[in-house]
Amino acid sequence: MPVPGEIRVEAELSRPTRSWSFRNAYAGVLGIAERIGDFRAQDASVKKIATGEFRSDLDATKISYNVKLSELRATDLPHVSWLAYDRGLLMFADLIPQDIESLSAQFTLPTGWTAESSITGANGRYEVSEPQKAVFFVGRSLRKISSTTDGLDVVLNGSWPFKEPEALKAASDVMKKYLDLTGFKLPDKAAIMIAPLPVISNKSEWKAETRGSTVVLLANPQKFDFWRSRLTIILSHEMLHLWVPNSLKLEGDYDWFFEGFTQYTALRTVQELGSVDFQETLNTLARVYDVYISRPDDVSLIEASETRWTNPSSNVYIKGMLVAFLYDLKIRKESGGKLTLADRYRELFSLGVAANTNGNEAIIALLDSAPAMSGFAKSYVENPTKLELEQVLPAYGLTLDSSGKKSRLRVNRDLNAEQKQLLRSLGYRD
Ligand SMILES: [Zn+2]
Repeated sequence: MPVPGEIRVEAELSRPTRSWSFRNAYAGVLGIAERIGDFRAQDASVKKIATGEFRSDLDATKISYNVKLSELRATDLPHVSWLAYDRGLLMFADLIPQDIESLSAQFTLPTGWTAESSITGANGRYEVSEPQKAVFFVGRSLRKISSTTDGLDVVLNGSWPFKEPEALKAASDVMKKYLDLTGFKLPDKAAIMIAPLPVISNKSEWKAETRGSTVVLLANPQKFDFWRSRLTIILSHEMLHLWVPNSLKLEGDYDWFFEGFTQYTALRTVQELGSVDFQETLNTLARVYDVYISRPDDVSLIEASETRWTNPSSNVYIKGMLVAFLYDLKIRKESGGKLTLADRYRELFSLGVAANTNGNEAIIALLDSAPAMSGFAKSYVENPTKLELEQVLPAYGLTLDSSGKKSRLRVNRDLNAEQKQLLRSLGYRD
């Protein structure tokens, strides 16, 4: 760090080259490579030909450049590297030229700073096999607490209304649920990194992202009240990404599943962990339905997934979540309670969908392969079929009353035995 808020990268390349290009966009954030400057190659002269694009007249194996990480926009977070005050997150996806497939990294940090990562280092050196997924938390007085049995580290900085062991407990509880859900043990250690939001935004009090084996949670410590259930709610969504999609090698935009179905599965998990009860789960679904009916729904979930980052009111999360809810209700009903949506996750990881296949095709086939579920995902995901919960829910013993300002989702007074069993399996207690 030659000056606060800026890093200098010095790299020795394994083979000579004369062209380097840096990622300029990530998850809807544009212009990240504008932060790269003073690019030099040893014994060669370098020209910047466009944002993040550098070319030299001769082959070179030694390069160096600066990256300015302190001029942050709230909308950049949590998707890009930053440095603020005495901490920062270094995400190699926007710090390292794009075609570098693996690397060995060392940090020279200011006195008193340390670096933490899900990648285990030895003697200050880190072997990074997938730079695009590598995240390093650097700063003064980082605190780390680990659970070796769960393969989990929690790294914190700043002052919070909770203690490190409590954050680790929340993360471990969620981890166990998803190990159970998927039946798949993550190959690498996971790290949960919690830092104060470096830019306070009036839009959101926290932001999170899961990349590779790292969950990053940036929050405003002053506004992080009800922290226990909040932490569980945030981690229930983010930590499922360690499996879906991060442990699946599927291609294409199937965000309706790994975001929408994740929303629903996370809500079920939060309920099972006791942070919300059955009625609150129904209330959440009713709120989501109100958002759904307030927006147009004229493209399929697959198309919505393709435009997720450019369309702020994409239906990926909300419709995806409601489709997952309907799927769970229907499969429970059709199988007489023997099957649930959760079983699909286990199957996804036990059968193992072939690597590099199309995510949309693979997941739709998996969902529709269950008895009596044929055509369900095809209809709600591939086709732009609208949701009409008022009409379909009564068959499951639920009533959606959308006559008032806010919809209400309630259990019917007269349930038949089958409906009672179904709703009880979802946590209903009469
Ligand atoms: Zn997500």
